[in-house]
Parts: sequence; structure tokens; C-alpha cells
Amino acid sequence: MKSKLKKIYYKLLKLKNRILHGRPVLVTMYHRVSDVVGDKLTHLTVSVANFENQLVYYKENYQILRLDEDWNSLKKTGLVITFDDGYADNIINALPLLEKYQIPATIFITTLNINTKNEFWWDRLVFDYANCDELFDLPDVKNKVSKSNTVYNDIIDKLNKLSNPDKENWLVEFEKMNQIPFFPREEYRSLTNAELKFLSDHPLITLGIHSHNHYSLGNLSYKEQKQELIISLKKLNELTNRNIKYLALPHGSYNLDTIKIAQELGFLGVLLANNYYSNKENKASRKMNRILMPNIKDEVLLHYLKKYDFRTW
Ligand SMILES: [Zn+2]
Repeated sequence: MKSKLKKIYYKLLKLKNRILHGRPVLVTMYHRVSDVVGDKLTHLTVSVANFENQLVYYKENYQILRLDEDWNSLKKTGLVITFDDGYADNIINALPLLEKYQIPATIFITTLNINTKNEFWWDRLVFDYANCDELFDLPDVKNKVSKSNTVYNDIIDKLNKLSNPDKENWLVEFEKMNQIPFFPREEYRSLTNAELKFLSDHPLITLGIHSHNHYSLGNLSYKEQKQELIISLKKLNELTNRNIKYLALPHGSYNLDTIKIAQELGFLGVLLANNYYSNKENKASRKMNRILMPNIKDEVLLHYLKKYDFRTW
């Protein structure tokens, strides 16, 4: 009886929301599409097979949209595909599948490592941590420490507070102390200039920015934030003639200044990372919610998406 009432309640809620706000749009957020996965940060990688499984499911069940399309009068729940960070696997592994199913996507580029072999610090740390002994040395710490989640999280907290050059120094020191043979791996590189140029001309792909250094914008001053966005805009504008109109927030972090700067720079949308559905009102207010897509398929995928499509809606 109770569950029957619940079902009716959700149906009415869904109807009410639909009348008031239109159909929901699920803006998905991906990072890497690859079969090479480390033993941490696994939530940032979807395997090639699971990515294809997800695309097929989207194609059958959703109205696939672009960020700058009209989100009014949708016939089905809408779905948008976005990628953050600008990994090369987006063109190598994801693009052929997007082409196969003719699905558009937006790729948000962190410009720091484009056209270099460098890895992002978080991937390098996963490699280093996996390759050091159970008992290991930490820069500026006298005694050896043993591996634990707390120690790992403390390292992340420490690195998050450092500038990128200081992070690099810390990692080099860590690798030296613990004799870790780190070499930048092809599977973790960022897109090259030539690849970005190709993507910017591709009819299915829109490019956006994800800042230059991938710092949490909410922790920076107005001036620092503006610089972060202007540097990355400039770098992308040098490669493409298309206007960059969207910004995805690193770590989903922002404050009032971020929104102000986004307006000043003429962005049509700021993309959050808050695991919530969007609708036409989000689009109109230029702040869109996004849902992190895990490495799942079939039934698990269906249940995961239903959470956003039905129960809360
Ligand atoms: Zn990111």
C-alpha cells in the first residue's frame, strides 16, 4: 500500500515538474574513456565497451541535445554529453563511437598540459603511490610512513593547496626519495594542438574551457580567477576560429565572482559538477547541473539514470 502511494506521489510530482519546468535534461560528465585504469580515481574512467553501451542506451531512450540547442518542448528526457579535462583518449577512443552513433558532445579543456606529454598531477600521484613500497618516504617528513587511505588523502589535501609548479617539485622529490620510475604515459596525456584543431572543426564536437591550471576557482581571488579563464580562452582561441561559449568548473568549485566573470567574458553557460538534473530554467540562468557517469552498463546504468530521470523529477 505504502509503495503504491509512493508511486502515485512520484507520478504527480513528475507531472507537476513537467508542467512547471519542462522535461529534465541530464547533462552527463565524463573524463577519460579508456581501458587503462589505475587503482585509484577509477570513477574518472569509463571503459570503451561501457561507453559504447551507454551511447546505445542514450540513443534509444533520450532526446540527445547540444548545450546550445533549444531545451523547450522536448519530446523525451533530454541528454547532453560532456567531457572534462581534455584527455587525448577523448579523440582516440570516444570520438569514433560518437561518430558511429552520430552523438554530439562538448569537451572542456584544461589548457595547462595541451600539446605536452605531461600528465595531470592526480594521475601521476596515483602511479607514484601504486609504485612505492608499503613503507615509504614523504618530502619534509622525518620517519617513513605506511600506506593507508588517511595518508593518501592527506597527500591529496597537501597537493591541492600547492601551485602546479610546487606540486611538480613535490612529486619529483617524492619519486626520487622512493625510487619511482615515473615516465609520462601516452594513455594519460592531454590533447595536442593538432587534435584540438581537428576537434574544433568537427561537426559533432564543441570545445569549452575547464580553466588553465585546474585550480578550485572558488578559492581564488576575482583577479586570479579571471586570469585562469582568460589564459585558457586565449590558448583555445589561437587554435580555433569558433567562439568558446561554455565553461566547466574544475572540481565544480565557484563563488559569486566566478559567475560575474563568466558573464563579463560572455559565456553562455557555466557547468557544475553536482550530480543533479538540469532543465530549461538552468539553461536560461546559465548555470547547468551535471551528473558524473560511472563505469557501468545495462541494468546498473538504467537504475543509475532513473534516479535522475524519474524519482527526483
Ligand atoms: Zn576536471
